[in-house]
Amino acid sequence: MIPYGRQWIDEEDIAAVVAALRSDWLTTGPKVAEFEEAFARAVGAREAVAVNSGTAALHAAVHAAGIGPGDEVIVPALTFAATANCVVFQGAIPVFADVDPERLLLRPEEVEARRTARTRAVIAVDYAGHPADYDALRELCRRHRLSLIADGCHALGGIYKGRPVGALADLTAFSFHPVKHITTGEGGMVATDDPELARRMRVFRNHGITSDHRERERRGSWFYEMVELGWNYRITDLQCALGLSQLKKLTRFLERRREIAARYDRFFKTLEGIRPLAVSGDVAHAYHLYVVRLETSLGGRDRDRLFSALRAEGIGVNVHYLPVHLHPFYRRRFHTGEGMCPIAEEAARRILSLPIHPGMSEDEVDAVCEAVGRLGAAG
Ligand SMILES: *Cc1c(COP(=O)(O)O)cnc(C)c1O
Repeated sequence: MIPYGRQWIDEEDIAAVVAALRSDWLTTGPKVAEFEEAFARAVGAREAVAVNSGTAALHAAVHAAGIGPGDEVIVPALTFAATANCVVFQGAIPVFADVDPERLLLRPEEVEARRTARTRAVIAVDYAGHPADYDALRELCRRHRLSLIADGCHALGGIYKGRPVGALADLTAFSFHPVKHITTGEGGMVATDDPELARRMRVFRNHGITSDHRERERRGSWFYEMVELGWNYRITDLQCALGLSQLKKLTRFLERRREIAARYDRFFKTLEGIRPLAVSGDVAHAYHLYVVRLETSLGGRDRDRLFSALRAEGIGVNVHYLPVHLHPFYRRRFHTGEGMCPIAEEAARRILSLPIHPGMSEDEVDAVCEAVGRLGAAG
């Protein structure tokens, strides 16, 4: 099976984790701060706060932005459920907005249309690795005094008009799950330029306690206070040692993802009926996913049949995503359903994510193209 995504782990990564295992600190130690500093530099942010998943990163960001019960937060319909779940964690209400049909990114006009007096924030998603329309979203958020949070879990290394994802919103969340650009097994990070937001997230990830174990040891004191309700969202030093080692390879990983995407692009120029999503001229795409769309739903070109036929040949295609407002939980809790975001709903019936990850060979890319051409055209 050629998986749609997969980690790349080498001997350097393994040695880094082993060294952390032999050190004094397995968690809340020096590797956490080291990883945070290196990551902040890599994404052009002043601060980065490491946590134990991308979902925890989103939750910490929403908390730091001051979102609470009764607040509304606008999120795109076509994303991973965690983008909206983090709003629900805080007792707030996710309001689903539709995406543009070409790139499947949150439409600023839709945000404007769904804004109410209770709207407090917008979460933009850099779907597939294509940076969102940050100029328009920033302007809109500034005008209405909303926080702009980016779910950058697809887009580490993405660039928008010369600025990296991580330096485009008030808070940007990243994930280090194995299918993402770099991995720590599980892990996440929030980048921000605001030291006060960073401080709040460091308290939040540690039970709402204002100091950590290492700090108290330095001070020679047992005393601490819990100032608000927090969680254990701490990441280990083992994971951060791996993250540091992975981060050194990010440029190479991105290059490889872009090479694979370019090879796919060349192939799809010659194939009728199946088209990759559009890419704006002013961005560098990070290609967490390579998403194509079936332009017709006839015969052999039907998406679900193509999906099954490719899987049967060992090609690990996937679908990203069932729109969040169509999940049973959201239907039940927020009375969402079909027709609320028609562009996302229509796209979700036609899209397919093709395998893309740094360890993929040219032969594997060509094998995917050959199979998509043969099975997609049959019918
Ligand atoms: C992966 C991902 C997340 C969640 O990350 P985890 O590390 O799996 O918790 C959130 N949003 C998007 C868009 C993602 O792709």
